[in-house]
Amino acid sequence: MSRNQTRKTGGAVFVVAALLALTAPLRCDDFVLGPARVKSGTVVSGYLPVPAKEGAGTEIPFTVIHGAKKGPVLALVAGVHAYEYPPILALYRLKETIDPKTLRGTVLMVHIANMPSFKRRTIYYGPDDWKNLNRVFPGDREGTMSQRIAAVLNEEVVKRADVLLDMHCGDGNEALIPYSYWMVSGDKKLDARTKDLALAFGLPYLIIDESRTKDAKDSKYLGNTAILQGKPAVTTESGYLGRSDEESIARNVKGVENVLKRLEMVPGRAEPAADPVWIDKYEVVYSKHDGLFAPRVEMGYYVAGGQIIGTITDYLGRWKEDVKAPFSGILLYVIGTPPCNAGEPLFEVGRVREK
Ligand SMILES: [Zn+2]
Repeated sequence: MSRNQTRKTGGAVFVVAALLALTAPLRCDDFVLGPARVKSGTVVSGYLPVPAKEGAGTEIPFTVIHGAKKGPVLALVAGVHAYEYPPILALYRLKETIDPKTLRGTVLMVHIANMPSFKRRTIYYGPDDWKNLNRVFPGDREGTMSQRIAAVLNEEVVKRADVLLDMHCGDGNEALIPYSYWMVSGDKKLDARTKDLALAFGLPYLIIDESRTKDAKDSKYLGNTAILQGKPAVTTESGYLGRSDEESIARNVKGVENVLKRLEMVPGRAEPAADPVWIDKYEVVYSKHDGLFAPRVEMGYYVAGGQIIGTITDYLGRWKEDVKAPFSGILLYVIGTPPCNAGEPLFEVGRVREK
C-alpha cells in the first residue's frame, strides 16, 4: 500500500466518522421499560411486575412501540377501571396498526392497568383491598395492591411519558355519554397544551375541571399525577355499562389516532370535534342510602335543576328518596343498574357553557 493510498483510506474513515457523528443525535436510544429493552423501529410487549407486599403481587401488561424517529413519549393507559372495556379493546387494535418504522417518538401502552379488577370483573374497586385505583395516586410501593399498582404506574409510565391519556368509560354500572376532562392546573402554558390534546381526542363534550388537588403527594387521579409533574394529560370517557360496542371502541381508536397526528408522531391532520359542548361546572351526586336506584332520565338528556333524576328504594321495596338534579344541565352519566350504596355516585350533571 502506497503512502498515497493510506492517506486516501484515512480520509474515507474520517468522512464516515464525521457522518456518523452528524447522524448520531437522530438515532433513538433503546427504550427500557421493566424487563423489556426496545430497539428503535420495533415493538415489544411484556409485563411490568408489581411485587407482592401485603398480599399477592400482580403484573401489568404493556406494549412499547418505539419509533424509528425521535419524538415524544405518549402513554396510553387503559383499564385503571378494568370493567371499562372499549379503551382496553381499542389499544389492542392500535397495537396492530401503529407502524414503528414510520412512527416519530414512542407509544407506551398499558393494556390493563388493574389486572386484579379485570380478572375478578369488579367495578370501581380492586378486589384485594377494595380501593379505587384512580383515587390512590401517586401510590405507595409498600402499600396495598391498588397503592402498589399506582406506584408502578407512576414510576414506570407517568415519569417516562411526555404526554398521557388516561382512557376510561362508563363503568359496568354507568350509562355515560362520551366526554373528556380538561384538567386546569393554573400553569397557562401547560393548560393550553392539555386543552389542545383534549380537543384533538375529539369527544363531543369537554368538561373544564378545576377541582383536582394540587398536592403531588396525594394527587389521587392518574391524569392529575401527570399534570402535577408538568405533563399534559387528559382523562377520556367513551363507552358505557360494561359493553364492548363497536361505536365506543372506534371512538377510542379514532381519538388516539387524532392525538398521534396532533403530536406529529404520525402523518396526517387530526380531526378534532367540530364544535364541542363545553361544560363549565359539574357535580357528581352521591347516594345517601344503600338500596336500589331506578333512573327516570336517560344519559345525555338535558335536565332542569330540581328535576327528579331517579328514585331510591330499600331492599324491601319501600321508597327512600327522589334524587334531584342540583342545577340545569346535561346528564353526563347515570347509574344504569339497580344496586346503589351510600357514598357511591348516582349521576353527574354538567352545566353547558354559553358560547
Ligand atoms: Zn373509570
